[in-house]
Amino acid sequence: MPKVRNLNLWLKKDLQYNWHPYTQMKDCRQIPNILIEKARGLKLFDAKGRFYYDTISSWWCNVHGHNHPYIKKAIKTQLERLEHVLFAGFIHKPAILLAEGLIAIAPKSLKKVFYSDNGSTAVEVALKMSFQYWQNTGMVKKKKFVSLDMGYHGDTIGTMSLSGIDLFNRVFSPLFFLSYKIPSPYCYRCPMGKNNQSCTIECIKPLEKLLERNSDEISGIILEPMVLCAAGMLVYPAQYLEKVAMLARRFKVHLILDEVATGFGRTGKMFAAEHAGVMPDFLCLSKGITAGYLPLGATLTTDKIYNAFYADYCQKKTFFHGHTYTANPLACSAALASLELFKREKTLLRINRVSSLFAKEMEFFRRLDFVGDVRYIGLIGALELVRNKERKEPFDFKERIGLKVYQKGLENNLVLRPLGNIIYLFLPLCVREKELNDIFKRVQLTFMQLQGEGVFK
Ligand SMILES: *Cc1c(COP(=O)(O)O)cnc(C)c1O
Repeated sequence: MPKVRNLNLWLKKDLQYNWHPYTQMKDCRQIPNILIEKARGLKLFDAKGRFYYDTISSWWCNVHGHNHPYIKKAIKTQLERLEHVLFAGFIHKPAILLAEGLIAIAPKSLKKVFYSDNGSTAVEVALKMSFQYWQNTGMVKKKKFVSLDMGYHGDTIGTMSLSGIDLFNRVFSPLFFLSYKIPSPYCYRCPMGKNNQSCTIECIKPLEKLLERNSDEISGIILEPMVLCAAGMLVYPAQYLEKVAMLARRFKVHLILDEVATGFGRTGKMFAAEHAGVMPDFLCLSKGITAGYLPLGATLTTDKIYNAFYADYCQKKTFFHGHTYTANPLACSAALASLELFKREKTLLRINRVSSLFAKEMEFFRRLDFVGDVRYIGLIGALELVRNKERKEPFDFKERIGLKVYQKGLENNLVLRPLGNIIYLFLPLCVREKELNDIFKRVQLTFMQLQGEGVFK
């Protein structure tokens, strides 16, 4: 590496050559990017030696903390043997052991693993398999998908077609394939005008009506179980998920659960599907699968789906899909090490204790005038900021309230990357109670300082 000692030179070079994701590059002139030199546990350290709590798990993927010796060792050991080999005609032990490990912990309906290399591809694979399943079995009219109008399933054209249309992807909407959108279970702003007491999951009705009319042309329904993450950590009742699963079964459409974000303990269970005990036809995994160390995606499915593709080559039932880095051995060994850590460190047991403290800390924010909603599950929590609590009036997009919280958060050693007016925590599962207290103290301080500055007026 060339020696560039001066931090400003690094920042200049970065802007000279790099174009960052989800970033208006003009903003980087005012809000410099932070050069991270190393990380350990919950903490990121920048070039000046300042630390930041990784309160959003480096975009929802870190699980057991940074620089974990056990995961590092697993990757290094694998690196000495084999860094990569194509996964067609060739196999390797990490991919076999990981598939066995995933099937052992996944909902019982799932028996087969198809690897890819990120969350969007894990979803694309499920969509294509679902679609081709009906073609292979003679139900050729079943070609469409249903999704929630605020869901998020990735940034490829296919997954964007099934995501909510908002600021981020509106410009691409002419490219989307047609699909059915149903109202999201956004409880704070209930689409049916109900509240916690009066709710009997009325918002399932549009799906029921749709399936009654059109199930013969519907391939599958896709949703994020328990929490619509990118929409603003919208936590919804398990009964909603139960009802979706029941309808999918009754009307013979595939249930595709996108657990790219919620998988691997985030909601307090290994998979969010367990909260409702549902048995999906597809489970899409990525993000936390390697504990945040290397890119990997996996799509789990049933024997029934698999068998519909199992035929003589000339019958044209093969699933022709794949990615160059499918089942990368280094990524698979990181994922295996992560699964082992879940056992050794009794991660799920531990976070059940920690998440009750998390819940108590979250509740504190209800008393603040500018916090309209407080929602949480496991170690995911969100605060929806509003100008007027009574009327649930949001702050205007142009005010960039989230950005102000983000900048103040950095001063207080936090990464509070907002989702619009929603400030959230998505903590690595390794968080200790002492760290949790410290993080919440700093979040409170951040809000108090901003309130003092009149930001929420
Ligand atoms: C992040 C995310 C994806 C996309 O994953 P990438 O690895 O960023 O492509 C898909 N679905 C959900 C629910 C996600 O949160």
